[in-house]
Amino acid sequence: MHYVSTRGAAPELGFADTLLAGLASDGGLYVPADWPALDVPVDAGTYAEVAVAVMWPFVEGDVEREAFETMVADAYATFDHPDVVPLTELGDGLWLAELFHGPTLAFKDVAMQLVGRLFDHELARRGERITIIGATSGDTGSAAIEALRDREAIDVVILHPEGRVSEVQRRLMTTVDSPNIRNVSIEGTFDDCQDLVKAMFAHEEFRAAQRLSAVNSINFARVMAQTVYYVTSHRLLGGGPVSFAVPTGNFGNVFAGYGAMRMGVPIRQLVVGSNRNDILTRFFATGTMEIQGVEATISPAMDIQVSSNLERLLFELNGRDGVALADLMQQFRAEGTVTFPTDLLDRLSETFSGARFDDEETAATIAEVLDRHGVLLDPHTAIGVAAARSARVDPSVPMVVLGTADPAKFPDAVEAATGRHPMLPERLADLFDRPERLDHLPTDLAAVEGYVAEFTARH
Ligand SMILES: *Cc1c(COP(=O)(O)O)cnc(C)c1O
Repeated sequence: MHYVSTRGAAPELGFADTLLAGLASDGGLYVPADWPALDVPVDAGTYAEVAVAVMWPFVEGDVEREAFETMVADAYATFDHPDVVPLTELGDGLWLAELFHGPTLAFKDVAMQLVGRLFDHELARRGERITIIGATSGDTGSAAIEALRDREAIDVVILHPEGRVSEVQRRLMTTVDSPNIRNVSIEGTFDDCQDLVKAMFAHEEFRAAQRLSAVNSINFARVMAQTVYYVTSHRLLGGGPVSFAVPTGNFGNVFAGYGAMRMGVPIRQLVVGSNRNDILTRFFATGTMEIQGVEATISPAMDIQVSSNLERLLFELNGRDGVALADLMQQFRAEGTVTFPTDLLDRLSETFSGARFDDEETAATIAEVLDRHGVLLDPHTAIGVAAARSARVDPSVPMVVLGTADPAKFPDAVEAATGRHPMLPERLADLFDRPERLDHLPTDLAAVEGYVAEFTARH
C-alpha cells in the first residue's frame, strides 16, 4: 500500500514511512492511494482477529504478518472487556459502542495501543530512536503515555494546560512512573501548549537534533485502527445497513467511519455531533468553514476550532485534487474562512450530517438516558446520543453511537447532571493515592526546548 498527501506535493510513502512521518512534507495529511476492499474471513471471531483482517492491506509489505498479529493481539489484551468494543442497546434501534474499556478510559486507547507497538517495532527494525512531543487537553496525552511507557526507543514529553484538565485525566498521566515519560503543566491554555509543540516542530535544528515525532490524530495509522470498530459493530448487528453517530473534535474518529464505508461497510449515515464549538455543523449547513473563538464546555475533548482530519474528507470529495485543495486550505489559513463548491457539499450530504448541543442539552441527555435506560454516559457520548436522535433519517436502519469515554473520566459533569458519582474501574481504584510526577513551565519556547533537550540527553 502506498500513501499520498492531501496537498499533492509530497512524495508517496509506504506504511512504515507514513507512520513515522505523521504530517506530509507539503503540510498535507497522508491517505491510502486506494481504499482496500474488506476481506474478513467468516470464522474471524475475536476483535483482534477481525482487526488483523481489516488492517492487513494497509500494512502489507511493511510489517510481517506474524509480528502484526502479535502486536494487534497484545494491543487489545490491554482492554478489560472480552469483546474489546461491546455494544449495548439504548432502545428504539439505537446502540452504544463502548470504546472506553482500554487503559485510560477513552476511545483513543483503541488506536494508540496499536500505534505505540507499531512505532516501537519499526524503530527497533531501523535501530533508531525518537522523541514524541504532544499537547493534550486530556485524553490524547494519557492514551499516548500509557501506550508508550517503558518503550526502549521512544522518549515522551506531554504538555497540558495547568488546571484545565480534569483531575482523573491529569492523574492518568502523572502517576505513570516510567523513565521515558515526562509530564509538563504549562502556565497557559491548551492552545498555548499546541503552539509550543508546533513551534518545536517548526524549529528545524531542534526537530532534527531531537528526532521529534508525533502521535496525534493526523497520523494515518490511528485512522486505520479506528476503522475496525465500524466493521465489528456492523457484524455484531447482523451485517446489514447501519448508521453511526460520532461525538467529534478533530474529525479523526468519524473519518475512520468514512474509510470503513469506502472499504465496503454499508453505512447509511454518519452523524457528526458537536458542542458549542460548532464549526462543523455550520460548515455542513452552509458550505462555509469559518473559525470562531474556542469556548470551554463540559465536553473538553471536542473544544476545537479547526478539525484537522476534515482535510482528508475534503480531499476524497473533491476528486482527490490535492493542488486545488492546497489553495482552499491556504485561503482558510490566511482569511479564517473559506467556501467550498456546492457539488462538494452535495456529495458530503449524501452521508454526513451535523448537530450541535450546548452544555445544558448535554446534561439533560445524560440525565434522561440514565433515567430511561439505566446507562450512565459521559458528556461527549451524550452529544453522540443527542445527535443520533436528531439526525436519523431511517428508523429501520440501526444507529450506533460511538461511546468515546467512560463517565468516570468526567465525574464532575456527570454528577452535576445526575447526582450520581461514576466509579472508576477496580484497577484504578487507588488512582487518587498514587504519587504524581510532573514539572511546571511557563509558556516559553526556550524553556520547554531546554527541558526536552536535558531529558533526552541522558541517553
Ligand atoms: C478525542 C475525543 C473525541 C473527539 O474525537 P476526534 O477523533 O478528535 O473527532 C471525542 N470524545 C472524547 C472523549 C475524546 O477523547
